[in-house]
Amino acid sequence: MENPTALNAARRTADLNALADGAELDVVVIGGGITGVGIALDAASRGLRTALVEKHDLAFGTSRWSSKLVHGGLRYLASGNIGIARRSAIERGILMSRNAPHLVHAMPQLVPLLPAMNHFNRAMVRVGFLAGDALRIMAGTSSSTLPRSRRISASRVVEMAPTVRRDGLAGGLLNYDGQLIDDARLVTAVARTAAQHGARILTYVAASQATATSVRLTDQRTGESFEVKAGAVINAAGVWGGDIDPALKLRPSRGTHLVFDAAAFGNPTAALTIPIPGELNRFVFAMPEQLGRIYLGLTDEDAPGPIPDVPEPSSAEIAFLLDTVNTALGTTVSSSDVIGSYAGLRPLIDTGEGRTADVSRDHAIFESPTGVISVVGGKLTEYRYMAEDVLNRAITVRALRAGECRTRNLPLIGAAANPGPAAGPGNAPASLVARYGAEAANVVAVATCERPTEPVADGIDVTRAEFEYAVTHEGALDVGDILDRRTRIGLVPRDRDQVVTVAEEFLALR
Ligand SMILES: Cc1cc2nc3c(=O)[nH]c(=O)nc-3n(C[C@H](O)[C@H](O)[C@H](O)COP(=O)(O)OP(=O)(O)OC[C@H]3O[C@@H](n4cnc5c(N)ncnc54)[C@H](O)[C@@H]3O)c2cc1C
Repeated sequence: MENPTALNAARRTADLNALADGAELDVVVIGGGITGVGIALDAASRGLRTALVEKHDLAFGTSRWSSKLVHGGLRYLASGNIGIARRSAIERGILMSRNAPHLVHAMPQLVPLLPAMNHFNRAMVRVGFLAGDALRIMAGTSSSTLPRSRRISASRVVEMAPTVRRDGLAGGLLNYDGQLIDDARLVTAVARTAAQHGARILTYVAASQATATSVRLTDQRTGESFEVKAGAVINAAGVWGGDIDPALKLRPSRGTHLVFDAAAFGNPTAALTIPIPGELNRFVFAMPEQLGRIYLGLTDEDAPGPIPDVPEPSSAEIAFLLDTVNTALGTTVSSSDVIGSYAGLRPLIDTGEGRTADVSRDHAIFESPTGVISVVGGKLTEYRYMAEDVLNRAITVRALRAGECRTRNLPLIGAAANPGPAAGPGNAPASLVARYGAEAANVVAVATCERPTEPVADGIDVTRAEFEYAVTHEGALDVGDILDRRTRIGLVPRDRDQVVTVAEEFLALR
């Protein structure tokens, strides 16, 4: 039998043809970001006949531009939003212990105690971290999954973050939160697990003219267009949701990150967490990431006007991030150290006035006058809960026949409990295990290319087998899919340029 988790061009064509020929559907999901794929997985695993359509590629939108954190909700606690804080901590625990332990690990967050931070602010951070420990315990997440917070010595701070400012350094406060190996990789894993449960996952298919029970689909590769009918149509198009349901009022806010070689920060082992001067409880983070990089984020800027496909950081945001992180560095960084940057738009609900940083991160479900059910807002961390909430609503208002939600205990492809149908023998390199979990050996075992375990280019820690797997199992249809979403090589333009022709070779082999 074909591998049910494998997405590729042939499966896409077969699924698209089946829909054009009138295959019956209970649910159509619009949007292949984390929200949409989460809904598709929830629906398919309840036994609903499900199709997801994504105008571009999986994780093309906001979901690939996040900070890649699985938050415990500390920030919401500080703003008095206990409900979201509690839920975040619970969802983090579910992801780290059941759904995707292979994709989320504990990330140490280190606040260096420098003279610029007064006693009140230090006490606030310490109290916040202790409250975070309490949230973790309440959520039932063990300290072996996420160690408890603590104070550490100045010498330990310097060991973990070697370029930190040393004059007046009085130690540091250490806390642990969840960190994804990559956000787009989570989206792909959820989509493939939905496919494993029978969902049809269709990239490069745009939705339009959505109603309660029908939607027009247009194949972006051929221009062909047809209408499908379904029991419910769910709009999970993120910041583009208003194109599907014009009644939606969104207020996008831009968040920017800069990318560095880890060497520019002395190869730290913790995320340096720097208070933003003049703000209470807002920080910039310099986080160690895969491929020997640091991502430095993040901003929160109103982004009114037309919504671009790919948002761009502004020069003011870049200057803000560099200036803020340099307040805590002995060996400072400058714009010449920046090797890449990215920006994403938060799909916030428009609540009127105030700063975007203060707008609620809660999600909301709307039923439009046309009958489309839309879900907006929320956080990547809470995608599973959001999906359960939307499906419960859709099942009720559309009287769908479905089982109970199963996703709490449903391991994603690559979790030890879901290694896929054909896990190959042998040992895989550690970098593959970090990205594919229990599936890693299979990535190498099914490769037909020459030199599968060799890197795609000198100095880039991605193997040739991974490019092939992107095409044969992860639904990559073009160079951008491979370089910018299945792998994140593309976040650094000079690295991307080196491997474009290699990606083209793998696409030609199809
Ligand atoms: C800078 C930044 C950092 C963040 N960091 C974190 C974090 O660390 N942790 C966390 O939990 N959350 C974080 N978030 C929030 C989180 O990233 C978002 O809430 C989440 O990714 C939104 O996902 P989505 O699926 O709703 O939207 P999207 O990912 O934007 O998905 C919507 C999809 O719909 C598709 N689409 C649009 N129109 C159509 C159409 N007509 N037909 C078919 N498809 C269509 C788009 O191409 C897109 O892929 C961050 C957000 C930002 C901006």
